[in-house]
Amino acid sequence: MLFFNKSAAKYGKIIRMSESDTSRHFLRQWIEKDIADGKTGGKVVTRFPPEPNGYIHIGHAKAVCVDFGMAALFGGECHLRLDDTNPAKESDEYAENIKRDINWLGFQWSGEGDSGESGFYNASNMFDKMYEIAEELIRRGQAYCCDLGQEEWKEYRGVPDKPGRPSPSRDTDPERNLKIFREMRDGKYADGQWCLRAKIDMSSPNIHFRDPVLYRIRHVSHYHLGDKWCIYPMYDFAHPIEDALEGVTHSMCTLEFEVHRPLYDWVVDRMDEQGLLPVRNGVKIRTEQREFARLNLTYTVMSKRLLLKMVEEKVVEGWDDPRMPTVCGMRRRGYTPGAIREFCERIGVSKVESESDPQLLEWCVREELNRTAQRRMAVIDPVKVVIDNWQGGFRDVELSNNPVDESAGTRKIPFGGEIWIERADFMEVAEKKFFRMTVGGEVRLRGVCIFKCTGCVKNEAGEVVEIHGTWDPDSWGGNAADGRKVKGTIHWADCATAKKAEFRLYDKLFLEKNPLKDGSENFLKYLNPQSLKVVTGYVEPSLALADKEERFQFERTGYFTVDSNLVFNRTVTLKDSYKPA
Ligand code: ATP
Ligand code: MG
Repeated sequence: MLFFNKSAAKYGKIIRMSESDTSRHFLRQWIEKDIADGKTGGKVVTRFPPEPNGYIHIGHAKAVCVDFGMAALFGGECHLRLDDTNPAKESDEYAENIKRDINWLGFQWSGEGDSGESGFYNASNMFDKMYEIAEELIRRGQAYCCDLGQEEWKEYRGVPDKPGRPSPSRDTDPERNLKIFREMRDGKYADGQWCLRAKIDMSSPNIHFRDPVLYRIRHVSHYHLGDKWCIYPMYDFAHPIEDALEGVTHSMCTLEFEVHRPLYDWVVDRMDEQGLLPVRNGVKIRTEQREFARLNLTYTVMSKRLLLKMVEEKVVEGWDDPRMPTVCGMRRRGYTPGAIREFCERIGVSKVESESDPQLLEWCVREELNRTAQRRMAVIDPVKVVIDNWQGGFRDVELSNNPVDESAGTRKIPFGGEIWIERADFMEVAEKKFFRMTVGGEVRLRGVCIFKCTGCVKNEAGEVVEIHGTWDPDSWGGNAADGRKVKGTIHWADCATAKKAEFRLYDKLFLEKNPLKDGSENFLKYLNPQSLKVVTGYVEPSLALADKEERFQFERTGYFTVDSNLVFNRTVTLKDSYKPA
């Protein structure tokens, strides 16, 4: 089963397709029934059809999980089809990144393919076929050319509860329509001057059925085909043709396409009349569409258009800024593919629009990283501690790499009597319930010894610049020989050997739950001005050798991932009161 790839194994846990009842959602039941009814010709085929006009985001990740997940569950194949029917705004850079992100999520397309690459298709490779189908519709009197202007066209179409009016060109004979359509193709007309429409039903209560546009003129170069075409098919015409030609059995998409489904079926019926539906093992494959609710996340925006705006206006560093809801942004933030898949599975598949809380996603990330991320010590807001009676030179301290996974082993860190600790771990005079370092009190230095603080040095502004104290030589390793207990354990970085590091602390990008609450024009005003804080501190020396994208738990400060050498992105904080329902 072509379901996991190497990067999935490297980055995440294995995809779980649980057999529980909750995962037997309506799409799964639909496919099961079609298999039982013998409609698939022995193979379930799905597709994920992104438009290469941006990077994929967490919403697309859900569709990826559904499309690839269902194919895998039934031992079928899922195609990756770039829906590049809209010439403006598409590019190879986007296409390449979409592929990389899907692979990273743990999925691999499979099947025949249209260009030598298994399972990979470009909708634009079907333009010739689409054009032929359109000509045949014209010959059969099922489509006509119309020259109503945009405004007139809308007015003729009417409103749902009143029938529309026929275009004056509705009954033009096929010969003349063919002539005009070919002239459209040959570039004789300007954008918008003519279009090709299906001849269906101007009084249908479904407005999409009122002689919808199939082809429009656009004098724009296509990123693959250049100026070969100046007419381009509309989504409603192109999508069912692509699905049908590829032999897709189950075409899943988001709810907004539900009202378009009769038109989808109309196009498939016309292809059937034209003898174009593929046959597999003696069964004619008739693609069908079903719709599920989109994934919406609070405190962010997801439309590619708006994400592009943030990139262009340099509100963020790029599509892969760790605050972005894009797959590559989440990757750079340190999220794991396994956690993203787990999140998509937990929110489930339904027909009801809802909003998901990013805290659930963070919870999934923490759950996985707690199991898999090695522990390290890093001090992100350092203040110096000097052990006045230290005479040991350098001694190695041995620490566990992951207390919840013994197989992760241990590591040794040099300790030399002068260390950095977190500023927040010290209070000259302890407040109630403060059990960390305080003058006169004892704490444990993680893995080293028991330390008694004797005082601190302050600057003119009254800020603590250095802390002093003594260690108990009978407590090497961290426990007192006489068995006395100390409450706080402090993490540290050794002054002489620690490496200076940059930490990027991220918070949510928007302060408003729904940044689009007053339209998509003004959403930037809800940006969180504190969404990125950059600080410098110290880390264990071994972290200088960590690989890019390696993930760690920095004790007491959070989960971090390596952005570049000694630059760490905070993935998520350690604890949160959030519990999934
Ligand atoms: P956007 O509006 O964010 O730019 P789109 O729908 O235009 O997205 P496409 O590239 O056309 O993006 O989408 C590819 C597939 O991903 C489609 O099948 C679409 O239904 C699905 N998809 C897009 N956004 C979401 C979402 N938020 N939740 C679930 N599926 C989504
Ligand atoms: Mg789209």
